[in-house]
Amino acid sequence: MRPYLLLTPGPLTTTETVKSAMMSDWCTWDKDYNEGIVEEIRRQLVEIASSRPEEYTAVLMQGSGTFCVEATLGGVVRPEDNLLVAANGAYGKRMGVIADYYKLNCHVMKFEETEPVSPEAIGKYLDGHDEVTHVSVVHCETTTGVLNPLAEIASVVKAHGKTLIVDAMSSFGGVPVDMAELGIDFLISSANKCIQGVPGFGFIIARKSLLQQCKGVARSLSLDIYDQWETMEKGHGKWRFTSPTHVVRAFMQALAELKEEGGVAARHARYCENHKTLVEGMRSLGYKTLLPDEWQSPVITSFHYPTAGFDFASFYQKLKAKGFVIYPGKISQADTFRIGNIGDVHPDDFKRLVEIIRSL
Ligand SMILES: *Cc1c(COP(=O)(O)O)cnc(C)c1O
Repeated sequence: MRPYLLLTPGPLTTTETVKSAMMSDWCTWDKDYNEGIVEEIRRQLVEIASSRPEEYTAVLMQGSGTFCVEATLGGVVRPEDNLLVAANGAYGKRMGVIADYYKLNCHVMKFEETEPVSPEAIGKYLDGHDEVTHVSVVHCETTTGVLNPLAEIASVVKAHGKTLIVDAMSSFGGVPVDMAELGIDFLISSANKCIQGVPGFGFIIARKSLLQQCKGVARSLSLDIYDQWETMEKGHGKWRFTSPTHVVRAFMQALAELKEEGGVAARHARYCENHKTLVEGMRSLGYKTLLPDEWQSPVITSFHYPTAGFDFASFYQKLKAKGFVIYPGKISQADTFRIGNIGDVHPDDFKRLVEIIRSL
């Protein structure tokens, strides 16, 4: 069932037990599914995300992670509001593209792809732009693997009294974040990243008091997070339209396995160990990381091509034949490739990978 391990930013390698959880059929309108699975997932997500769960609520949404980012920006930011997007990679830029599609008043602050978003720069911008109502930022920019300083960013945004939206797609469940402590208002992630489920839906964890004010804001029916939330609340786990039942059931198994592993802190420690094993091994072979260690997340690591004439396609095929699928780079300033550290993968897998690269 596992021709190769996915060392990618998602979909990623899942356990046999998560895959097996998909072997039964569920009725999308039945109580066993709605109350037994969907409500349980919503409750657990809020508990993972916030030390004050009573202030937050979770909405699940069909589709990939981008659908949830779009549902949030389109369902929360009003035509008269002003959104500031801090972008240091493809996913930050994508939030700007979504804002354009919805014709939102939006300013994209661009940062270098190889540097973290600067909280000071955001603060300075907010000092001069009272009209800004919402700020959105990516936590782990999967484009490079840089981990943006979320606590410092949140502190600046909150000091200015703005609503904070965080794309925590590739970090939630793998890097500890406390929404209540940091004052985050909306946090977005999806099933197939650090919770280690399979792809098919995403979720938004929202400050209840703010989401309650969002009735009628959405300009898309299927991406209306308020309506989706209200239906889930009133219907005790009902979705408005067909939900990916097998995927949702597998996600509940993935949450149980996260708990079994010891929660987010333990998973974070494993990902850090994966990352360390990979980087130490690759450095011993002469490979250089794109980012300095202090900006690097444990989620995905970018490496420079070892030589100018490096043939990535052939490197990729050789590793795939040996059981590892890696990822191409995504930035323009440097030739890089990426290796993901998340999923059901362990330090021993990275030891094996390094030995195989050594033997090439
Ligand atoms: C994976 C990811 C997304 C969502 O991508 P999809 O392809 O729509 O699932 C968004 N933001 C970040 C930071 C991601 O890593």
